[in-house]
Amino acid sequence: MLIRQSAELIMIKYYEAIQKFHAKHKMKGTNNEDMTFRLNLMTEELGELAQAVTKGKPRKKFIEENVDLFYLIIGNLISTGVTLEEFDKAFWKKNKKIMNRKKKKVNGKFRVSEFRK
Ligand SMILES: [Mg+2]
Repeated sequence: MLIRQSAELIMIKYYEAIQKFHAKHKMKGTNNEDMTFRLNLMTEELGELAQAVTKGKPRKKFIEENVDLFYLIIGNLISTGVTLEEFDKAFWKKNKKIMNRKKKKVNGKFRVSEFRK
């Protein structure tokens, strides 16, 4: 129970920290709500994560690039006014769906998907 409460608190802390970042730089009403702009930032960070993986960068760099992407994902919610409660509800709805998917080997790699025909 203590661990679960801590995890929820951590997520709230992340959301609030990124909210503070958005407030500090007065992002509301600027291009920050422009999802094309934000997708470009995410693509840039995904590229940095890809480099960390494919160029064998240290674990620290791999974690940092995941933080950058996570920061942008939470920023997407804040920029568009999605609350943590809405996200939480959507997360668990999706999780339930994903947990019921099948695992299959496709082109030599294992995938978990709905595998529509
Ligand atoms: Mg980065």
